[in-house]
Amino acid sequence: MTLVHNWHLGRRMEYPYFESRPKRQFAAVFNINRCIACQTCTMACKSAWTYNKGQEYMWWNNVETKPYGGYPQSWDVKTLKLIDNGENTWYTDEKDEKLSPYGVYEGDTIFEAAAKKNINQWAVGYIPEDKEWRAPNFGEDVAKSNKPDEYSSLPEHSRWFFYIQRLCNHCTYPGCLAACPRKAIYKRKEDGIVLIDQKRCRGYRKCVEQCPYKKPMYRGLTRVSEKCIACYPRIEGRDPLTKGRPMETRCMAACVGQIRLQGFLDDNPKNPVTWLIKHDKLALPLYPQFGTEPNIYYIPPRWAPRSYLRQMFGPGVDEAIEKFMVPSRERLAVLSLFRMTQTIIFEYKIEEGPKVFETTIHGKKFELYNDTVIGLGEDGQEVVRTTVEEPVYIRDPKHYNSI
Ligand code: SF4
Ligand code: SF4
Repeated sequence: MTLVHNWHLGRRMEYPYFESRPKRQFAAVFNINRCIACQTCTMACKSAWTYNKGQEYMWWNNVETKPYGGYPQSWDVKTLKLIDNGENTWYTDEKDEKLSPYGVYEGDTIFEAAAKKNINQWAVGYIPEDKEWRAPNFGEDVAKSNKPDEYSSLPEHSRWFFYIQRLCNHCTYPGCLAACPRKAIYKRKEDGIVLIDQKRCRGYRKCVEQCPYKKPMYRGLTRVSEKCIACYPRIEGRDPLTKGRPMETRCMAACVGQIRLQGFLDDNPKNPVTWLIKHDKLALPLYPQFGTEPNIYYIPPRWAPRSYLRQMFGPGVDEAIEKFMVPSRERLAVLSLFRMTQTIIFEYKIEEGPKVFETTIHGKKFELYNDTVIGLGEDGQEVVRTTVEEPVYIRDPKHYNSI
């Protein structure tokens, strides 16, 4: 093992390979508050990549109901148990903007737990049995509730559930890549996408075992494993629709609830994905304590119990929800870019418009401006433009509204 820096954990951690970050990292922000669990994203992926023989049980993209749902069944609870040493604590007194923005996590990662247990594996894990992959929508809309006569209200609903949308996280320190003894899994330098080399894979299923998110899946027909490929031909601009420009993946582009924005995590503070994750800290990683530095980031649901959310997304939850509930002018403009185009946005700029509304909400003043937000492509050319507020059109009176 070597020591690498994991900024989610705010510390160095053990990993089999040296730290080597891609030029820019495939990443996305999912606004859980907007998801309707329509599973359109799920079918967008299914109908493109996993519709064939031997893939019947595979759902690279899935949307599950928390707290009880999960695909494969109970994947999160089973993996969390493997790293539980009774001292899985976050320390948030001292933070560093770059190195430890959420504080420092002092529990064991999947890699460290394996080293401590001396199990002669790179990471702790388990291979789900065939029956655990059944029922991909297990626990749909099942709420947590203790009393029969309770009512739900903010800040924390007493009867609650929410949806979590999952795909491969294209982790910075992937458990799957570490696990493969044949080095058949690699992380691309140009965009951080993690792929299983289908020619080299021998179906050892070490990746299935040691990915804490359970995203590599074994294909009985080919006798090798497969996983989400981040629709890399689209990312490379090979779909004619965007005329050579990098295009968002199928699952992102299909999102009905406008919850998803995909792009790259880079050093540009005006990149909307980078801004939401690193600068505004509105979007947080899923189970950072696993230690893989996942790259799908979530805006946590404002109604769910904070203790549950903190164990899921780390200690940044409270600040993120507070910011989301009464969004700043810039935040609202950036959120307005979600699902306005399939072309990947590399930078945003805002043209200021008039104030259209103001009120006091959740104890704070909120002002709404009808700003225009513009998305620029890789070459700096404008690829999308939208306004924060819907325009109103008044037609000739010969057209009726009440018909
Ligand atoms: S989510 Fe799993 S399969 Fe995807 S890169 Fe991370 S460890 Fe590998
Ligand atoms: S398409 Fe969007 S809104 Fe529908 S389930 Fe997927 S993430 Fe949620």
